[in-house]
Amino acid sequence: MSAHPWSSQRISSFGETVFATFTRLALEHNAVNLGQGFPDFAPPKMIMDAYRAAADEYQQYPPLPGLPALAKTVAEIKAKVTGQTLDSVANVQITVGATEGLFAIMQAFINPGDEVVLLEPFYDAYPADVIMAGGIPVYVPMQPQVNGEWLIDFDDLRKAFSDKTKAIIINSPNNPTGKVFSADEIDKILALATEFDTLIISDEAYEYIAFTPFVSPSSRPGGFERTLTVASIGKTFSVTGWKIGYVVGPAELVKAVRMAHQWIPFTVATPLQLASAVALKQAHQAGDTYFADLAHQFQSKRDILLEGLKGTPFKALSPNGSYFIVADSSELGYKDDLELCYDLPKRIGVVAIPPSAFYSPDHKYLAKHLVRFAFCKTDEALHEASKRFKNL
Ligand code: PMP
Ligand code: GLN
Repeated sequence: MSAHPWSSQRISSFGETVFATFTRLALEHNAVNLGQGFPDFAPPKMIMDAYRAAADEYQQYPPLPGLPALAKTVAEIKAKVTGQTLDSVANVQITVGATEGLFAIMQAFINPGDEVVLLEPFYDAYPADVIMAGGIPVYVPMQPQVNGEWLIDFDDLRKAFSDKTKAIIINSPNNPTGKVFSADEIDKILALATEFDTLIISDEAYEYIAFTPFVSPSSRPGGFERTLTVASIGKTFSVTGWKIGYVVGPAELVKAVRMAHQWIPFTVATPLQLASAVALKQAHQAGDTYFADLAHQFQSKRDILLEGLKGTPFKALSPNGSYFIVADSSELGYKDDLELCYDLPKRIGVVAIPPSAFYSPDHKYLAKHLVRFAFCKTDEALHEASKRFKNL
């Protein structure tokens, strides 16, 4: 469908997100949905209890920075990570999911013509956020290795930086690759950001779903000062529909984000913030075992799907975090990843995501032979998909 003549130029390059398209396809074909990344199982009891209790509490606008109970726990947790003294008002902004956090950051810092460096494959909201702020995304593809590693070419990355660069986005654990950036990689990126005096936007939506040690740029020497960390309660407590997230960073940077945020949603759903506050506090007070259990739960799901992919035409690149597996599908002989992903539901009743959605137009060819499966699904669904793969 072509754009309405009244529509703005800033949306003219956008199509429907792959997540909307492929979840619809999953429903149409009654397929096992390993496409969109949302858990298909119940959230932990403790957050559902908190949710029910919150329904009887205050229902009006919360304070602009966020519900104090939630912002306080976030500040406490992030003070430990960063080694900084954090104030729950000055250093924290609660947002409508990580999505709005990212959008507000771009609105707060990007001027028309400013460049933002994105590693490919990227989470698909990033270019849209940059473009809607009038900025220009600059793309640097990572190179997949047979052992599942995705390498950054630091010569290419350096070439992407210039005096026009305003920011770089790091997403670790990464969607879609599952890459968990090493301390060395983070330090090299930080060195470039320091040399070119740019902001680092650290999308840590999957911070607790890491199977190897997770390193935040905000925890590295000289990192906190130039980093805005974005997080997602939806991922941490398997409640993706809640859309509760937060941005943490130096006071002056968070203040700018707040100036944009106040004109986007103004504030964020009070009862859901309260329920998130109770759950995050409980998880934190329980000596962080909740977070370790979460990682174990997802690691075991990853292993079920990796096992299920063995002996099939999909050659999986084993991920170290997030809830996605990227696999090589060359053996199946499809023209590209879109053709494969449109055919899979019909052919075997499984939905996956075409990773070309996570590449810029010039680099989509790099994803032609790739496919992304989400493993944030019940063990039964993962076993059923594994059975269906055998029909290929
Ligand atoms: N960043 C990444 C890397 C994601 O995968 C997602 C997906 N949900 C988001 C941000 C958005 O998170 P939220 O649902 O909290 O807006
Ligand atoms: N983050 C999820 C994924 O990558 C879905 C987010 C969305 O539907 N926008 O699958």
